Amino acid sequence: MFVPLCFYSYCTRIPHKGYIIMAAKAKKTKYIFITGGVLSSLGKGITSASLGLLLKERGLSVTIMKFDPYINVDPGTMNPYQHGEVYVTDDGAETDLDLGHYERFVQAPVTRQNSVSTGQIYFEVIQRERQGKYLGKTVQVVPHITDEIKRRMTTYDKKFDVVLIELGGTVGDIESMPFLEAARQLGLELGRTNALFIHLTYVPFIKSAGEVKTKPTQHSVRMLMEYGIQPDILVCRCEEELEKDVKNKIALFCNVEEDSVVLALDAETIYEVPILYAKAKLDDAVVRKLNIQRTSKPTLTEWSKFVQRVKKPKNQVTIGFVGKYVQLQDAYKSILEALSHAGAVNNTRVHVKYIDSEKITSHEEAVAALADTHGIIVAPGFGSRGIEGKIWAIQHVRENGIPFFGICLGMQCAVIEFARNVCGLANANSGEFKKVKNNVIDLMPDQRGVTNKGGTMRLGSYPCVLKEGTKAFESYKSQIIRERHRHRYEFNNEFREELESNGLVISGVSPDARLVEMIELPNHPWFVGCQFHPEFKSVAVGGHPLFVHFIGASLAHQGKS
Ligand code: GLN
Repeated sequence: MFVPLCFYSYCTRIPHKGYIIMAAKAKKTKYIFITGGVLSSLGKGITSASLGLLLKERGLSVTIMKFDPYINVDPGTMNPYQHGEVYVTDDGAETDLDLGHYERFVQAPVTRQNSVSTGQIYFEVIQRERQGKYLGKTVQVVPHITDEIKRRMTTYDKKFDVVLIELGGTVGDIESMPFLEAARQLGLELGRTNALFIHLTYVPFIKSAGEVKTKPTQHSVRMLMEYGIQPDILVCRCEEELEKDVKNKIALFCNVEEDSVVLALDAETIYEVPILYAKAKLDDAVVRKLNIQRTSKPTLTEWSKFVQRVKKPKNQVTIGFVGKYVQLQDAYKSILEALSHAGAVNNTRVHVKYIDSEKITSHEEAVAALADTHGIIVAPGFGSRGIEGKIWAIQHVRENGIPFFGICLGMQCAVIEFARNVCGLANANSGEFKKVKNNVIDLMPDQRGVTNKGGTMRLGSYPCVLKEGTKAFESYKSQIIRERHRHRYEFNNEFREELESNGLVISGVSPDARLVEMIELPNHPWFVGCQFHPEFKSVAVGGHPLFVHFIGASLAHQGKS
């Protein structure tokens, strides 16, 4: 990989995590806007993340921002059915799951400033209006809302070589109009070689006609042009290779150069997409149009090895995934991706068996549901639905030496199960579900009296001190770690002594030892719970130590069973 000499001077290497940009020197920032047309779910997030990776591999410093058109301030208050997973950043923002892809692919620093919603924009403008800052003017979408959008789009100006801006929604949606208008204005202000518009569109293959159709793309580009935006590059999602004459037709009708029509072929895994885009010369077109010089084609050496292991691993293991949104895999996006990263490290395909915790109401049902699994994950979550099923499942794996990994609520359920079935605290429960004498999990003191919902949990990255000689320590190989949190409840210290004296090991605590962050069982092949969300820090190449060791233990269990 070619790396400009000055590159390392503003980067620091984090073991297994690549280079993290620290204080970038002032630079001329290039902007890339990514819009979507025809329909949703074409992969704008993966396209942004993939292009980010390709540009980073060319030695450029990159960050990716997402602008979402909804009025919610952030997705933190939305139901997983509405929005999928809420992704948490180091600085404690509750954001769109696409930010997870950005971090997993690019390992670029992502903060709360990378995730912007219409709600945030209006909130800011209305507050300013109340403070009288508009000096008696009528406050309008143009220019006041669009100015605030532009201010946020340029947050990272001069700090990165390239800022990619993904605009949520589909062109033509009423909601996203102010974002498009702001992008248009900014494009004009920045000038041709400093701003680039990439439009992701759909080219369907129509079976009965036996050919692909370009009309939806033509319409979508026309709509974009109605907003005053002429796309520079068209990325065409299609299940077939695009013939040269089809590409030429799209170029002609959409007023782009022929080599700016780039195919986005369906891929076997999302991690193959950067490789396919490199082959389709997307990054070549980008650097050429933005007049970015002195970079060379990315090699993607480590990335390609990782993709090979994802596609053709030697082993296979089945992990039972016990949660309540099992019909909606987007709800647990980062966990599923972390499993696939850890699978690659272990040269193993991780087959996930989804188990609806609400359907487990007895020991027998737990045994039946967990049959053929070599390890289980008990998912994070909120509310009492499905809790007892999780506890039945945990009892079964604890008693039968099946690897267990409990994440956040999953750890809390493990503590409840241990209290009930090992310590004999029959009615043990979490204060979140039932106020009882033995609330072994209870509200954190600083959460008492909090009534506002948005952004009020214990959120973001906190340090944790690991106990030597534990599986946690063995996995991380480090005494101090930092992981991200999103919860209101915690292990109740009043029960610490009793649970420890019955054999529960507290393997990770906050630096002041007040908060229990990790638990495990010593006489079990792998029974580990964490109050934080390790899945948010799992990166594609290398994975996350807890997931890697959990999959390793599940493989070992498979060998025995
Ligand atoms: N509902 C639990 C709490 O608030 C767990 C949250 C989670 O799993 N993210 O503490």
